[in-house]
Amino acid sequence: MARYTGPVCRLCRREGTKLFLKGERCMTGKCALDRRSTAPGQHGATNKKVREYGMQLREKQKTKRYYGVLEKPFANYYAEAERKPGMSGENLLVLLERRLDNTVYRMGMASSRKEARQMVLHGHFTLNGKKVTIPSISVKVGDVIAIKESSRDLSLVKALIEGAATKLTPKWLEVNKENATAKVVALPARDDIDFDFNEQLIVELYSK
Ligand code: SF4
Repeated sequence: MARYTGPVCRLCRREGTKLFLKGERCMTGKCALDRRSTAPGQHGATNKKVREYGMQLREKQKTKRYYGVLEKPFANYYAEAERKPGMSGENLLVLLERRLDNTVYRMGMASSRKEARQMVLHGHFTLNGKKVTIPSISVKVGDVIAIKESSRDLSLVKALIEGAATKLTPKWLEVNKENATAKVVALPARDDIDFDFNEQLIVELYSK
């Protein structure tokens, strides 16, 4: 399945919640969801009864879109989450949270996960001292993520480093904002994920 290239605000309107896909704009009065909260499309404003399957499907779509993951990789994440000990739903969220692009976003070095993904794809980051270009890499405890030395002088990167100074970072990351580096000091826990997911609905969907 191809990556969605249409207007991303439609995705928030479809899910009825802010997915923070447009960086700084999401925090301003220009947010499309704040201005028009109905679902997109001709029948978006009609009050449709949502059945159980519909709720489960929407929760999966919301989670996929929040992390910017396509259908097949998402199903693979779920399969891996099921194989791990513990609760599959929580395992799924933790696996998604550990993605390198999400980690870059969480360390404050990008205004959205999409931007973080692009920064990684363009080779602006190192993982344990080595250049990385794979946004889906799963970080582990002890990993160090940094901006590549030769990228630090780029105006975009400079702006991101400056912007990071004011951003909150999760406790599973030890971030040095001056050096623009982060060390993974623990694996993210469910409580560290500050978004309203109902992962049990996703488990029910995949259990059918
Ligand atoms: Fe979603 Fe951000 Fe667009 Fe608002 S501005 S609808 S949060 S992508």
